[in-house]
Amino acid sequence: MYAPPGVKTSKDFLVPDTMKAWVLGNPGELKLTDKPVPVPKKAEVLVRIDAVAICATDLDVIYHGPPALIQGGMPHNKNFTPGHEYMGTVVATGPGVDEYRIGQRIAVEIHAGCGQCKRCRMGMYTSCHNYGLNYGDVDKGHRANGFTTDGAFCEYQVNHINTLVAIPDDMSDEEATLIVTAGTAMYGLTELGGLVAGESVVVTGPGPIGLLGVAVAKALGAQPVILTGTRDNRLKIGLELGADHVINIRNEPDVVAAVKRLNGGKGVDYVLECSAAPSALNDAIRMVNRGGSVCLAAFPHDEAMVDIAHLAKNNIYVYGIRGEGQSATHRAEAYMRQKRFDATKIHTHTFPLENLPTAIRYAKDRVDDAIKVVVKARISAAQKTAAE
Ligand SMILES: [Zn+2]
Ligand SMILES: [Zn+2]
Repeated sequence: MYAPPGVKTSKDFLVPDTMKAWVLGNPGELKLTDKPVPVPKKAEVLVRIDAVAICATDLDVIYHGPPALIQGGMPHNKNFTPGHEYMGTVVATGPGVDEYRIGQRIAVEIHAGCGQCKRCRMGMYTSCHNYGLNYGDVDKGHRANGFTTDGAFCEYQVNHINTLVAIPDDMSDEEATLIVTAGTAMYGLTELGGLVAGESVVVTGPGPIGLLGVAVAKALGAQPVILTGTRDNRLKIGLELGADHVINIRNEPDVVAAVKRLNGGKGVDYVLECSAAPSALNDAIRMVNRGGSVCLAAFPHDEAMVDIAHLAKNNIYVYGIRGEGQSATHRAEAYMRQKRFDATKIHTHTFPLENLPTAIRYAKDRVDDAIKVVVKARISAAQKTAAE
């Protein structure tokens, strides 16, 4: 049985020596294998993964590679396990850990910075300068599970205590996987200035981050919150999560004019860009008023032409964000714990871990209007039937 030296375990949570783990082969190819259960070091715990949500960035990693960076290069054929939006139960603790106890339910954020580079010292651990440089004989302590270190399409994973968020007993596993998604939206709004009470916000793109961006902006008191997109079913969920207005850009040839019409003829104060559309940045800089701010939260695959002169002449600020920095997951969890919005509205499907390829197909092809697809190693019989 699992009993590494210096690691605290408990009779209540017996841990095996090996586990089921999906590993990435060639692009788009996942194989179910056995791996040793990893061992937590100082300031780390072992998490039993109870649920993991599939993210568009997982699809990027599985089919294309970046932003994963394994052993200095592409993640394919390196025995690498992707998956990063998860929650679970602490089942073992590394040396010196007293911040979390065995049996505690937690959600995670992804990036554990190295703690020693310039950006980590500034609190910008999602921009750690040692991202992906933690292999071979270099031990910088950096982890970004599912990107630079093994992730969550398996049964157990190691997390630094700084990446854990304690969750209440009445929060479901599925809802807890969405804390990191809401945390990413929260980080975007934090970078845009933080307090948005009474200020106007457009969210472009009703994917998971965009939809929870609407919810978080509304919880922060933004007014009005306008959501743009192409799918009516998702825009409807945006309304349920607090959007004051939605615009289906398929029916609205001039989305910039439509936004201004909805905000008293003026541009808005902030745009949170979550669509990755080629025209998104040019639209966003025209949706904001002079001196306004745009946050880019999506990762487009292609480069885009940008009207730099419009940006400069109008003193517009543009921020790129990576992940869920500045401990934003803790603020997102606080809103969810207080039931300020119902993140589960974006959870659509649950599959058993052994059906990961099907789950990925649902997320990728948006089968059955899938938005957030969750995978569970310990799925209940009722959920198993519902998933089939
Ligand atoms: Zn993600
Ligand atoms: Zn660092």
